[in-house]
Amino acid sequence: MALAAGVVHLRWRRAFLRAQETSRDAIEQLKESQEHAARQVQTQQEALFNSMIEGLLLLDEHGRIQLANRAFSDLFGLTTPVRGKTIVEALRLTELAALVESVTPQEQLLGHELRLAGLSERWLQINAAAISDANGKQRGTVLVVHDLTRLKQLERARQEFVANVSHELRTPLSLIKGYVETLLDGAKDNPEVETKFLQTIQRNSERLQFLIEDLLTISELESGRIRMNLQNLALRPMVEKALGDLSARARTKRVTLTNHLPEVTVRADADRLQQVFGNLVDNAIKYGRLEGSVTVSGNTLNDDTFEVCVQDDGPGIPAEALERVFERFYRVDKARSREQGGTGLGLSIVKHIVQSHGGRVWAKSEPGKGAAFFFTLSRAE
Ligand code: ADP
Repeated sequence: MALAAGVVHLRWRRAFLRAQETSRDAIEQLKESQEHAARQVQTQQEALFNSMIEGLLLLDEHGRIQLANRAFSDLFGLTTPVRGKTIVEALRLTELAALVESVTPQEQLLGHELRLAGLSERWLQINAAAISDANGKQRGTVLVVHDLTRLKQLERARQEFVANVSHELRTPLSLIKGYVETLLDGAKDNPEVETKFLQTIQRNSERLQFLIEDLLTISELESGRIRMNLQNLALRPMVEKALGDLSARARTKRVTLTNHLPEVTVRADADRLQQVFGNLVDNAIKYGRLEGSVTVSGNTLNDDTFEVCVQDDGPGIPAEALERVFERFYRVDKARSREQGGTGLGLSIVKHIVQSHGGRVWAKSEPGKGAAFFFTLSRAE
């Protein structure tokens, strides 16, 4: 009897141990699957945060960083992990830390602009809000940061452009006004003075006209409204025409114009390309020397690309100005440009047109030995 009871007990005990083991396994499995699910949610969250264009920073209730997404790290140039640090420790930005401290469940921060001085100035827009629990107690802070640098740069360029345009328009206009007033005040009674003044008025009204035409061209090109009408064009005859149009101007300075281009067909918009040659050859005559020479030549670079060169033998361009001459209103010698009727927009129009054709433009010069302007065009198949 006692033996039977012992056997039953033993069986029961084995079954009990097996059941205990099974439940332990089941609990382990449950724990593992819960951890797996939590890891998956965390990975998904991280992927989501890292795919955001805006910088995102999560702080706990003690102001310590819980999470900084990839955009945030890029914006602030973070190279080491910042989890657990405060804003001052991680970024050394007391202004930002003070802003974040001012955030409460009742007080959000919206659209605050922060300028980061440094090698390359950056502008950031900071938005921040408190993270509260069910009882309304603040448990942390979330920060969303937009990069405004590009927008600010565009805004600055626009303001500079408007200021430049106003200045360029005002100068000839006040000259015209001044000479008209002097004529009306009596100068018109002296025929010699009258003719001289009227010629100045004519020159300045032409300057205004050129300026407005160039501004309209720039605005058209920049708006992207106009499309290049690409055709197969024989380059040599086209340059022959451009040189012909400028021959009277060249004669006044006894400048020789030469077309050294080989026979080549390119893909380009005929009117726009005439404008490019017109501007480059006109500049070469204007800024070249008296009795000098201007040559248009070119090279086949490969199956797809042809390189054109407009070369003069004038005083040339200083090295530090070679890239800047393509900027709007940049002139090496302001007085010389104005005296020649320049608007300061010719080369920026050239650059726009060449780039709209998918080409590149650049200048080379050895001061005293002339300037050479190069640009590339696509060859016709
Ligand atoms: P601008 O109306 O003043 O001629 P551009 O944009 O055509 O304006 O040219 C910008 C500046 O580049 C000119 O003012 C001039 O100082 C310089 N430049 C352009 N072409 C030449 C050249 N062939 N030789 C020397 N300087 C030049």
